[in-house]
Amino acid sequence: MKPTLIRPGGLPPGAQHAVVTPLMPSVVYAADSPDALDAQYGGVVEGYTYAREGHPNADVLARRIDAMEGATGGLVVGSGMAAVTAVLLGLLESGDHVLGGDQLYGRSLRMLKEDLPRLGIATSQADPTDIDAMRAALRPETTLILIEVVSNPTLRVADMNGLIELAREKNILLAVDNTFTTPRAIRPLEMGADILIHSVTKLMAGHSDVTLGYVAAKDEALRRKLYDFAVTTGLTASPFDCWLAERGLMSFDLRFDRAEATAQRLADHLAGQAGVKRVLYPTRVDHPDHARAQGLLQGHGCNMVSFELDRGRDAANAFVKGADGVAFAPTLGDVGTTLSHPASSSHRSLTPALRASLGLTEGFFRVSVGLEDPAALLAVFDKGLEAARQA
Ligand SMILES: *Cc1c(COP(=O)(O)O)cnc(C)c1O
Repeated sequence: MKPTLIRPGGLPPGAQHAVVTPLMPSVVYAADSPDALDAQYGGVVEGYTYAREGHPNADVLARRIDAMEGATGGLVVGSGMAAVTAVLLGLLESGDHVLGGDQLYGRSLRMLKEDLPRLGIATSQADPTDIDAMRAALRPETTLILIEVVSNPTLRVADMNGLIELAREKNILLAVDNTFTTPRAIRPLEMGADILIHSVTKLMAGHSDVTLGYVAAKDEALRRKLYDFAVTTGLTASPFDCWLAERGLMSFDLRFDRAEATAQRLADHLAGQAGVKRVLYPTRVDHPDHARAQGLLQGHGCNMVSFELDRGRDAANAFVKGADGVAFAPTLGDVGTTLSHPASSSHRSLTPALRASLGLTEGFFRVSVGLEDPAALLAVFDKGLEAARQA
């Protein structure tokens, strides 16, 4: 047999007509000549060299999310936290102050409270539903505000218009984590935010089989900084994860609308039940931010519902066992409904007093509604409630 080269190269004719984006796990890309490579590194022509610097599957996914968010040149990174990291560590300087919302995702809060201060960046938190509290928390050295539109797990709605105005007036960057709300409900960059963050892991990819993030900035210089920081620190996303997420995105609108409709139905259903003390859903008239949600979310709600049983841990344990078929797992945005119990998981490190002030009692649950048949799902919740009442 004639010896052959290791990499003969080339795809068979017609392969370029595939309707599905090919998965390209290649780490390296060959160049035609030193001149061509020089032009590529110099940004004169586009091309790939090394996957940590960029690869086709990440770019295909990023351009799709850009289109959904009204963004330009967004970057796909290895996780939602990688996106948060790129913003906080890639853009801030020692001596800066960051103001965060007071109910941010747990790891984002930890970065504000533990990691940034270690590097000489001061941080504090305030309630983003209260514009006066946010204004009062600003300092002369505040350079960035980080918020989520709908908070976890009490589903409070930030005063987006007020915050956009405040950030503009004070010349402060406004970074918005749009994971819960998604571009289906709100497009923060189009409204006037400067930076947008996603945990693509959640609703966008939607199947709990990839961990990915996305970050976009309006300003070209900020985009360059985010890109260089992400490439330098290795926040790169895997081609296979990007490929899977692109597959998930194709059904995103349908999934969001279905989950949202079922979430509204579940919220209304739970509200009338014995043993349920309160239900939180942004578009319900009994929600504290109902009017703001109507104005901001273009008639949408979200796929999340929170509710509180009127009893303690025993009832909570019984509820989870009784609601058989709903995964008790602290994630969100999956095709299947998941249930989380903040007092024993995401918020267990809070002092009991702080938990109480947020209303996160032992009976408090957060539901991420999936794509099940709505009637079948309500029946499972009824079983859980029945078990809780018997406990
Ligand atoms: C999950 C989540 C993150 C972190 O995303 P990962 O992909 O898990 O790193 C950040 N913000 C919000 C609001 C989240 O729900």
